[in-house]
Amino acid sequence: MFKLIDGKAHSAAIRVEIKERVQSLKSENNCEVGLAVVLVGSDPASQVYVRNKIKGCEEVGIKSYAYYLPEEVTQAQVEELVTELVQNGKIHGILVQLPLPEHLDSQKILSLIPRAKDVDGFCEENIGNLCMNRNCLVACTPNGVMKMLEREGIAVKGKNAVVIGRSNIVGKPMAMLLLNADATVTVCHSKTVNLKEVCKNADILVAAIGKAKFVTADMVKKGAVIIDVGMNRDENGKLCGDVDFENVKDNCSYITPVPGGVGPMTITMLLYNTVTAAERSLTNE
Ligand code: NAP
Repeated sequence: MFKLIDGKAHSAAIRVEIKERVQSLKSENNCEVGLAVVLVGSDPASQVYVRNKIKGCEEVGIKSYAYYLPEEVTQAQVEELVTELVQNGKIHGILVQLPLPEHLDSQKILSLIPRAKDVDGFCEENIGNLCMNRNCLVACTPNGVMKMLEREGIAVKGKNAVVIGRSNIVGKPMAMLLLNADATVTVCHSKTVNLKEVCKNADILVAAIGKAKFVTADMVKKGAVIIDVGMNRDENGKLCGDVDFENVKDNCSYITPVPGGVGPMTITMLLYNTVTAAERSLTNE
């Protein structure tokens, strides 16, 4: 019998802890935790993400500063705003919602955010520190996966972990976190040969591909832990993951559903990184 990993429940419990940390910064240090969110243009999906991030901030008592810039904003204007936010002591975290319109150089804009305010965990210094297994702000989605494993009491040490996907925001940091937690990690991608055989060896299988129901029952070892990061639409337009949930579930020990698994953890980990950044700002860490 498999156990469903309830991302909503874990997320709610972590938000209670974050709220307490936010309140204690206020009462003990007179520090109001602040997150700046920059949205360029009117992409509907990005608007929804930004709205949910602002709502999340409200729920835990973080003050959000939202900046809505028109699609035709120039590179210089965005850089000027980000530079101001970097210098603003009331702002502990800066988030530039991606993707940016094509005429903007995302990498250059993101590189202006110092590691201490990089609550997305995307900057080179935070990624470098993650690789060195040093304290740093970690990309929200993979960090959320680690929190779920920890909270479920799932041991990672010594396990064979397979991550399908090698993006800079999910697959690579996910692999690094599992490695730092002493798993034996294999990273797969579109050029991997014998993917099925590699996956069958996984005690923990993380799917971060972006292809609906890609992981099928014959790719899963009996009793494996299945983490589904994917967010796709199936043939009927219904939200689904990268894992063929209905056919895989009976073969595994734990599985995350989509929706309600990894997804709810991502914004929570953004809030977690923001309060962590605020705490560290007091000690100049
Ligand atoms: P991405 O940048 O498109 O990366 C996808 C990865 O999957 C690439 O490394 C790619 O390999 C690999 N891949 C594609 N086809 C494959 C195949 N046939 N066999 C093996 N590997 C294959 O995507 P992403 O940003 O990492 O996101 C992955 C999924 O997670 C998406 O569904 C996204 O919506 C979802 N997501 C969810 C959350 C959340 O909060 N739940 C957050 C972020 C992302 P190559 O490198 O060789 O091309």
